[in-house]
Amino acid sequence: MTQSSDATVLVAGSINMDIVATAATIPAPGETLAGDELHYYPGGKGANQAIAAARAGVTTHMLGSVGSDSFGDPLLTYLGDAGVQVEQVQTVAGASGVALIVVAASGENSIVVVPGANGQVTPAQVEAADFAAAAVGVAQFELPIATVEAFFRRCRAAGVQTVLNTAPAVTNPGDTLALADVLIFNETELGTYAATAISEDAPFAEIFEHARRVRQHQEQLLIVTLGRRGAVALHGDDEVHVPAAQVQAVDTTGAGDCFVGYLATGLARKLPLSDALALANQAAALSVQQAGAGPSMPQLAAVESALKSASAEA
Ligand code: ADP
Repeated sequence: MTQSSDATVLVAGSINMDIVATAATIPAPGETLAGDELHYYPGGKGANQAIAAARAGVTTHMLGSVGSDSFGDPLLTYLGDAGVQVEQVQTVAGASGVALIVVAASGENSIVVVPGANGQVTPAQVEAADFAAAAVGVAQFELPIATVEAFFRRCRAAGVQTVLNTAPAVTNPGDTLALADVLIFNETELGTYAATAISEDAPFAEIFEHARRVRQHQEQLLIVTLGRRGAVALHGDDEVHVPAAQVQAVDTTGAGDCFVGYLATGLARKLPLSDALALANQAAALSVQQAGAGPSMPQLAAVESALKSASAEA
């Protein structure tokens, strides 16, 4: 697969600091517990997807906000070090986006996400952004819906292909689904928009049926990621299944984000759909073999070499 040097991905999305405390149990209301360890992990779906796209070797810009608190600068440095262009990330007064996570010895967790600066990414910031070089615009639902709508409208006006990762599922997505050229769900999210529960082992025929109902327009490409079952895509009348690579999963955090970031680069490079899906699927399979979200996003060379070995074995 050759790279096109002018392909650019623009990710509008969340940038968070995940603060993780480990403790014997999750505290009950009113209870104070002594914890064991404290970790700071940069994250946020937008940041994770931007890092995946940058590791895939495509120039990647992030549009978002961090706070003026002590996390803002380290988050910008983290993104920059990962190869993401951050000139369209603004620093706003107040807190950065934070996820407060308690992980119990049993592996159970409890999480409070405070959007902070992510909630202050406004349609006005989108209007002022530079879309000139972008081929593909990617968004998720960790920014205000009005901002995602404004982002996709500007993308469309500038001839930029729009990719919506419908995560986390929201009850009122406004016009965002209709404004997307490509929708990427996992099965739970597809269930939310199809207003039905979809089980982890639902037959593909059932998943395609729900995808058809959720599809907003005939040209729209719908992709459903299915964990260790890989992913399926619905494009026109074509139904495609890409089986997942057989790997030992260590940590699936960020696998969906890796898939989205890599898929966006495949689209930006104008790869045939089957190649873009294979690339995203293989990248995500590599990401689940590493701990963490951002740090687990693989480099393009590793993804291409794994694809080559897989096709030699087939
Ligand atoms: P999310 O984390 O958003 O729910 P999924 O669990 O569907 O996303 O995973 C996204 C992608 O990651 C899958 O489509 C697949 O390509 C890859 N993946 C996830 N889990 C595994 C696994 N156990 N083995 C191989 N690939 C996996």
